[in-house]
Amino acid sequence: MTHRILILGGTTEARQLAGKLAAGHSVMLSLAGRTESPVAQGVPVRSGGFGGADGLAVYLKETSIELLIDATHPYAARISANAAQAARMAGVPIVALRRPGWEPVEGDRWTQVDTTGDAVQALGPAPRRVFLALGRQEVAAFDAAPQHHYLIRSVDPVEPKLAVPDATYLLARGPFREAEERTLLQRHGIDIVVSKDSGGTATYGKIAAARALGLDVVMVHRPALPEVPSAATVDQLADMVDHLVEPAAERGV
Ligand code: NAP
Repeated sequence: MTHRILILGGTTEARQLAGKLAAGHSVMLSLAGRTESPVAQGVPVRSGGFGGADGLAVYLKETSIELLIDATHPYAARISANAAQAARMAGVPIVALRRPGWEPVEGDRWTQVDTTGDAVQALGPAPRRVFLALGRQEVAAFDAAPQHHYLIRSVDPVEPKLAVPDATYLLARGPFREAEERTLLQRHGIDIVVSKDSGGTATYGKIAAARALGLDVVMVHRPALPEVPSAATVDQLADMVDHLVEPAAERGV
């Protein structure tokens, strides 16, 4: 049966899921609209915020959405909270695509911290050569530790630039393979990597490369996310769609 589905995206998996579901359903993919040149998504896309949970609830009702899928990045905590609340308000079933986080393995030298601010502290007082693979929104916190050299990689330019004397900026979009990451870390003489626990394979290359080179990693934990039904993979979630929509429809919600 064909359903009207809204996918909150901004991730590779959201795009894959949208492509897969579009074969049998009416799918709209929603992006925050922050990335300057987003990759082509291959399905109908709307862009920009909804105006909080209230705005999203209105959108769900006005467009007769039957299933809301939160396939946003695990660090996009606000939109995930809004999605859970809006689904409740609109009486629309919700499911999240939550890729599992990474686990440290033999040879990893991780320091695990809760926030970006804690990551800054974890670098310590002595100057280090730091690879920040965090995304442009979080790097500002490192202004507080100007003694380090920073290599900063982001999809869009970091604006404003860090107020530190020694920073190199790199624009690139993943996936990043281990061999390339190893070359990058060596070329820049990096001795510590700061990373989110993004999970998945697309950005794991730097973690594997750090392990191979015996480098320290500061791993920033995921934020708390709302408790909603979830699936770990695109295929798992795609298989759940009919079960999620039909009970709600039968209840006359
Ligand atoms: P956030 O802090 O959780 O959300 C901030 C606001 O942006 C939301 O309140 C919402 O505005 C709007 N928004 C976010 N995602 C949206 C979407 N898919 N469709 C429509 N509006 C959206 O999110 P963020 O951390 O800034 O991330 C923004 C986007 O980038 C997300 O789509 C996320 O999947 C993607 N992304 C984030 C990261 C990361 O590390 N945070 C990494 C890769 C990709 P309103 O309240 O006005 O609706």
